[in-house]
Amino acid sequence: MKEFLEGFLDRLETKTEPNDGEYLSDDGLLYCEKCHTPVQCRKMFLGKMRTLPCICKCKQEEMRREKEEAEAREQMIQIQRMKSTGIQERHLLDWRFDTAQETDTIRWAKKYVAEWRKVKAENLGLLLWGDVGTGKSFVAACIANALLEQMVPVLMTNFSKILNQMGAMYTEERYQYIASLNHYSLLIIDDLGIERSTEYAKEQVYAVIDERYKANLPLIITTNLTINEIRNPENVADARIYSRVLEMCTPVHVGGADRRQAVSRDKQELVKSVLFSGKGGGNER
Ligand SMILES: [Zn+2]
Repeated sequence: MKEFLEGFLDRLETKTEPNDGEYLSDDGLLYCEKCHTPVQCRKMFLGKMRTLPCICKCKQEEMRREKEEAEAREQMIQIQRMKSTGIQERHLLDWRFDTAQETDTIRWAKKYVAEWRKVKAENLGLLLWGDVGTGKSFVAACIANALLEQMVPVLMTNFSKILNQMGAMYTEERYQYIASLNHYSLLIIDDLGIERSTEYAKEQVYAVIDERYKANLPLIITTNLTINEIRNPENVADARIYSRVLEMCTPVHVGGADRRQAVSRDKQELVKSVLFSGKGGGNER
């Protein structure tokens, strides 16, 4: 084996005829014409000083670039894959910060993304409430897309969809399905309150939210309900759901944060300090 290797090396090192794009330099080594660094080097190997092939600078650079490009392509593919499972409604994929007008709301939403590590560590959820057409879903989708582009697993869905999916499941499957939502670092539930309002549906809605609560993972909810309706629910089932939501999510009126509530005051202060601090971010009217 050793003899075979030596024989192989002896043949390799004898090369002194330059290939295309190479030249023989004064030091007896072949050089690259483009970057003027050697394509051969002298090394002690198997007890003998040998001249061995090596890779010139421009070739190394090219290989590094190709590797980076391949990695970037791979990452793009992975992001596309994450987006197609995380954001199932196609039109939401186009709702991104780069297509958004720079409003107060968009500014703090960008901060939510920029401060993601802290947001996640402190489990800072948001309840985006306001009239139809104020852009709550838009803001939420911008956050979802931006985080997914950083390869943070996000699921943006709504309870109608979740309930449909759970409809055909056995109890055990349902339990696993709800637990599987915890694979997403951020869960965004769009349009709370438009789903079926049967007792069964409300039970499942509560189960999903409560699972998130127990896992201590952030939740963003958008709703057309007013903050009054959320604070003063009409029935026990809603009361149970909304009180959990208010424990986890700081109400933000899209167009202006709401300051009146008394629940989880500390967390609201934290949200304010993370999202609304500094000039221009003032959304806390
Ligand atoms: Zn070169």
